[in-house]
Amino acid sequence: MPLEEPHPGAYGLLKNALVRLEQGWTDAPSLEAHFLVRVLRVAGFQPQVDECTGCGRRVRSRAHWSARQGGLLCEACLHHDPRAAEIPPAVLDTLEQLAEAELPPTLEPALAHALRGRLDDFVRWRLDRPLKTVGQS
Ligand SMILES: [Zn+2]
Repeated sequence: MPLEEPHPGAYGLLKNALVRLEQGWTDAPSLEAHFLVRVLRVAGFQPQVDECTGCGRRVRSRAHWSARQGGLLCEACLHHDPRAAEIPPAVLDTLEQLAEAELPPTLEPALAHALRGRLDDFVRWRLDRPLKTVGQS
């Protein structure tokens, strides 16, 4: 988001996350994942996680994650991004859960890690430049 454009939704999310940290929130990976999913959503850059970005069909089983395409690909559309890797349904469910949850849920560490890697790839592709805060945790 451009610095000169006010964005109360994103500001509120950032403020809430910082206040939680200040108050002793110890589950940083869950908090980060929650913030990232929510801020992408208010910025209008959320990944497409219900339909294939190639053909628009609903895809749930054997879904593949393509940061480049902005979300999921079905098996028939893998030619759009042959490097897209299959994404476990649990990770997809968690992405949806985070987008809807007002409070950061507690995620299994492995799940938070899997999610974070995919979100970092997604953000890199959306921004088309590296973020200082991505990929260092
Ligand atoms: Zn498709």
